[in-house]
Amino acid sequence: MDNLSLEDIVSLAKRRGFVFPSSEIYGGFAGVYDYGPYGVELANNIKAAWWRYMVQLRPDIVGLDSGIFMHPNIWKASGHVEGFSDPLVECRNCHNRIRADHVLEELGEQADEKMSEEHLNELFQKHRQEVKCPVCGKVEWGDVKNFNLLVKSNLGNFSDNFDDNPSYLRGETCQGIYVNFLNVLDSTRIKIPFGIAQIGKAFRNEISPRQFIFRTRELEQMEMQYFVEPDSEMDEYEKLRHYRWDFYKTIGLREENLQWHKHENLVFYAKEAYDIEYKFPFGFKELEGVHARGDYDLTQHQKFSGKDLSYFDPINNQRFVPHIIESSVGVGRIMLAILTDAYSVEDINGEKRTVLKIHPDIAPIKYAVFPLLRNKPELVNKAREVYDQLSKLGMCEWDDNGNIGKRYRRQDEIGTPKCMTIDFQTLEDNTITVRDRDTTLQTRVNISDLVSTLGSVKA
Ligand code: ATP
Repeated sequence: MDNLSLEDIVSLAKRRGFVFPSSEIYGGFAGVYDYGPYGVELANNIKAAWWRYMVQLRPDIVGLDSGIFMHPNIWKASGHVEGFSDPLVECRNCHNRIRADHVLEELGEQADEKMSEEHLNELFQKHRQEVKCPVCGKVEWGDVKNFNLLVKSNLGNFSDNFDDNPSYLRGETCQGIYVNFLNVLDSTRIKIPFGIAQIGKAFRNEISPRQFIFRTRELEQMEMQYFVEPDSEMDEYEKLRHYRWDFYKTIGLREENLQWHKHENLVFYAKEAYDIEYKFPFGFKELEGVHARGDYDLTQHQKFSGKDLSYFDPINNQRFVPHIIESSVGVGRIMLAILTDAYSVEDINGEKRTVLKIHPDIAPIKYAVFPLLRNKPELVNKAREVYDQLSKLGMCEWDDNGNIGKRYRRQDEIGTPKCMTIDFQTLEDNTITVRDRDTTLQTRVNISDLVSTLGSVKA
């Protein structure tokens, strides 16, 4: 919808039980959100669609679920202890911290967190007079400094000093994939090229969590790492890029709201890096990264673990350290993209309705069942029969409260594709009204034909 604001989405998400701010009754906890009854269904459907597309439909990709905690040296090998940082700059007056790269981007500079501290500082100092502190309004900035994003914990550390030898909550899920590369290879019949996919929580001490569920400190990632023979890295990369783009079409995102963004400042080991960007209410921003990473990851883990992570290809009789191409996306970012894409306000016979036109496979509730009146046991029993049938197919909601028009509006706002009303005619001829979310058309369907008429949505 044109002119859709982030506030429209935040408000619907709260009002209708998709997303709640964390710890609200305690005044909130920045950078964390809770998914309510419809949010958890939506997130589960996004994850199921991703898993189906990335694992179930692919003979060459297998799944994994590794622990959130891992050996601390993994984060040294990966470069996170040294280099997983965002550039921040502090207001000397009120000590508010902002992300230097984000501010510079907004001023039209090509800046990102991968640039060196010195380079970013130079750029920032050039523009410092144009940047007012968003909290106190002063222009009293210090120097740009890198701030490490890893979240530390005392797991397994019983000394008083928390900082002694910390273990980390994982900053990304893919390290669990790299360190299980050999295990997967040895325990399955899979051969290169092959991929390992994983969905799980990750934690980042983001300096300025913002834009609702776009940037959070606790996030859930869906990552697939594909291990390839070095010479075929770029061919496989092109294939993966197209495969990932098509995923967004299968979950109903409009293609005109997607675009590619090529990274100009590559990290030293990367061969190529593109992001798929989505047009959020605050502009086109990264939805997912699709990157060609060379042999960096396995080489680093070889070095730090002392284990040989090379692969022997018996057909060509050669040994090599596999190169990796990756696809990495956050569940929350897809959820925000889906809510943005689906949100519409329509005029129906002079009345406004807000409707979420979510792809039926992804919609949190598939069917809603309404007995016309709650105090007529014949209607309620018949409706129960319908509910029992449909709830075996997918998430169903029961609503016997208020007038039918209001019940439809409520389901429109949470994106339920079909609503079923059981009325007095049902008792005579066993038909019910099936109302379609997008067209608002109502048709009468015999209960015994219900399942075959509805077709299949993935539950
Ligand atoms: P950004 O530049 O937005 O900080 P990034 O380049 O650091 O993201 P990656 O480390 O490549 O992101 O993470 C891969 C994906 O994980 C991103 O494309 C995004 O979908 C998701 N993601 C990363 N950080 C966050 C976060 N703080 N909150 C929500 N999702 C995130």
